[in-house]
Amino acid sequence: MPIDRASEITIGIIGGGQLARMTAIAAYRLGISIAILDPDVNSPASQIVQKRVVGSLNDISKLRELAETSDLITLENEFVDAPLLEQIESIGRAVYPTSKTVGLIQDKLTQKESLASNAINVPRFEKVSGADEIIDTGNRLGWPLILKVRRNAYDGRGNELISGPDEVRFAWNNLNGNSRKLMVEELVKFDKELAVMVVRNREGITVAYPVVETIQKEHICHIVKAPAQISVDISKNAANMAKSSIEAIGGVGVFGVEMFLLEDGRVMINEIAPRPHNSGHYTIEACFTSQYENHLRAILGYPLGSTEMVTPAAVMVNLLGNRQGDSIVQGIDEALMISGVNLHVYSKRTTRPNRKMGHVTVLGQNIDEPLDKAVKAASLISF
Ligand code: ATP
Ligand code: MG
Repeated sequence: MPIDRASEITIGIIGGGQLARMTAIAAYRLGISIAILDPDVNSPASQIVQKRVVGSLNDISKLRELAETSDLITLENEFVDAPLLEQIESIGRAVYPTSKTVGLIQDKLTQKESLASNAINVPRFEKVSGADEIIDTGNRLGWPLILKVRRNAYDGRGNELISGPDEVRFAWNNLNGNSRKLMVEELVKFDKELAVMVVRNREGITVAYPVVETIQKEHICHIVKAPAQISVDISKNAANMAKSSIEAIGGVGVFGVEMFLLEDGRVMINEIAPRPHNSGHYTIEACFTSQYENHLRAILGYPLGSTEMVTPAAVMVNLLGNRQGDSIVQGIDEALMISGVNLHVYSKRTTRPNRKMGHVTVLGQNIDEPLDKAVKAASLISF
């Protein structure tokens, strides 16, 4: 796609959440138009783009409609069925990441099998098709285990911790094991959780952002510290593993690679997200090129931008909903009184406990100062 025609290019994004919204903002700077497919006409991204298709992400007629108004298709979540993406590719519309990559990733079992077969460290895992099988697996691998739905999980909503055999049936029923495919993993006793955003272009050039530390609360990303306070060796190893894992699945675009750092310094991959990622929000202000812009550059065939930080340290804190109902944002005045606070509000019409409603990022000379400021600002804002 020639660069001088950028003003005529439309990228279609499957999904209209905050990741699509922030991608759209990056696209406008490059003079590129965005079209969105989302069931909600008021989704965070739908509100700010000119072209929207309203419908289910898995409705082929809606996907075709999106493809017809777009030069290129990408996605902001992994919930669209890979065979539907393949149909879009077969009508001559490029999809990045490709249907093949999405097919490998969207099922956590095939994702882990692909990584393991490429000699990339992952927690021990097994496919399970019944409660009795989980008990056998637990007796073999050891307890506790984590039971996971293989598809359409987010914010830890598809995970159940099982401490021993007597908790198996409860967990199985909670995750609807009779109607959904599940898998189990060993519970990793990690020291820290790390994440790396990886960008890979259509020619296979692969670059990584700095390794960050993510802190989850109730399985939901809460704080991101950039860069992670780890040794140079561990950081190099984590970045190399992240890059290898994206090469292994033939990824094109930006990918979030979530990892566990063990006490003995070993790193394991938890999961890969085939899209911009919460752990990369900090790149908007803290890096030369944001994850959103680099995603666009990668899928358009433009030169990739620098992934280096423009500051020694940055901290991102998510703004989560704490009640159910229409969202009314409060506390902005107090939060913005703190110098250096970068506030992002996703404009979700309704809030609920732990729903991601926005985030704040603060840059600094060391981790502590922006951490204090970002946590303080986040505590002042409510939805
Ligand atoms: P996300 O929160 O990234 O949308 P998700 O719903 O797919 O993801 P996971 O990434 O599988 O969920 O798990 C969420 C969190 O649960 C992890 O960040 C980690 O804190 C914890 N977790 C998941 N798997 C394991 C494991 N095998 N051992 C220890 N902790 C785990
Ligand atoms: Mg995760």
